[in-house]
Amino acid sequence: MNFELTKEQQMIRDMVRDFAEKEIAPNARHVDQTEEFPIDTFKKMGELGFLGIPFPEKYGGVGGDTISYAIAVEEVGRACGSTGLSYAAAVSLGASPIYYFGTEEQKQKYLVPLASGETLAAFGLTEPNAGSDAGGTRTKAVLDGDEYVINGEKCFITNAEFARTITVTAVTGKDERGKNIISAIIVPTNTPGLTINSNYEKLGVRGSNTCEIVLEDVRVPKENLLGDPNTGFKQFLYTLDGGRISIASLSVGIAQAALEKALNYAKERTQFGQNISKFQAIQFKLADMAMEIELARNMVQKAAWLKDNGKPFTKESAYAKLFASEAGFRACNQAIQIHGGYGYMREYDVERYLRDIKLMEIGEGTSEIQRLVIARQLGC
Ligand SMILES: Cc1cc2nc3c(=O)[nH]c(=O)nc-3n(C[C@H](O)[C@H](O)[C@H](O)COP(=O)(O)OP(=O)(O)OC[C@H]3O[C@@H](n4cnc5c(N)ncnc54)[C@H](O)[C@@H]3O)c2cc1C
Repeated sequence: MNFELTKEQQMIRDMVRDFAEKEIAPNARHVDQTEEFPIDTFKKMGELGFLGIPFPEKYGGVGGDTISYAIAVEEVGRACGSTGLSYAAAVSLGASPIYYFGTEEQKQKYLVPLASGETLAAFGLTEPNAGSDAGGTRTKAVLDGDEYVINGEKCFITNAEFARTITVTAVTGKDERGKNIISAIIVPTNTPGLTINSNYEKLGVRGSNTCEIVLEDVRVPKENLLGDPNTGFKQFLYTLDGGRISIASLSVGIAQAALEKALNYAKERTQFGQNISKFQAIQFKLADMAMEIELARNMVQKAAWLKDNGKPFTKESAYAKLFASEAGFRACNQAIQIHGGYGYMREYDVERYLRDIKLMEIGEGTSEIQRLVIARQLGC
């Protein structure tokens, strides 16, 4: 593993950072307060190739690696948590499963418009009664001639209202041991019987689109089944392993923004006749924040490197997601503390960082589930 970014990775970082600082950050407060999904930003990100970073050029992508993509998520997240979450979900959950498991035809039809940034996709796994216990999926897909008929309900699905397709997980049968077989099926969002609502009032990542989905006798061609019908469960576990790298990266980005704000503020704010950055109590907070962010970033890059090199990365992506989200939450909390009463006010942004980063301890597997994943990898 190389601790220096390659020229290509640096180029992607510089390009995304430049765009994020100029186009995303100035809109972040607005997006949070109005809960408006930044669709114009996504159009521009699409035109610049951001949505296709980890996909090959032949599928409309940029041909970059996971490290480059993780860096891009960090930079977008540093500018705006809401935009960062929708970006990470669009690439890691919307497009990636089609890239990993799709047939050539599915890739041409569904991945190319996603990677080239023409549209977005969503991933519908969570249900009202099946969250951490995704094996408890109740949505059913029954084969009727050449079509699957899908019935069920999904909740908390990112980007669904702006997506052209949603990959939904559904029970398609029973295995020889009588256990449910869960498969993934690509559902175009204009299919009759599919209802998408986004009525949630969220604590943070408020500009990211989060939806409830109801499927009532939704019919899709049987060719829309993604990958091997019998290993759908394994497929989404792999998808989540990849997604965790991006949630970890997003945590690093938000925490980095909090550190920068807190450091600048500490150097400007005077109490007892000196800058508060001269107080050791404040210095130690900043030192801990900087150290944990750097460690989290290294963990993200190691997990990404393992993935890029075809090595197992389940444990490392869980390490990265768990540590980055929890360390990031601590950093955002301390950024408010360093700002004192001003930190509690919207105009200083740090309260938004704390609200946004809380999601990272919940989405794509809660912290408790990450600890279970790690324990299992340890052989418990
Ligand atoms: C803003 C947002 C965006 C999201 N986007 C998507 C998306 O795009 N697609 C998608 O499919 N899902 C999405 N989710 C859903 C998210 O992944 C789930 O909320 C998460 O996995 C937790 O599931 P749950 O909410 O049902 O909580 P539960 O599973 O009910 O968990 C409740 C509590 O119990 C704990 N717990 C559960 N099981 C165990 C156990 N075995 N051991 C110890 N503790 C346990 C949990 O850690 C948690 O603390 C999103 C959620 C949010 C809030």
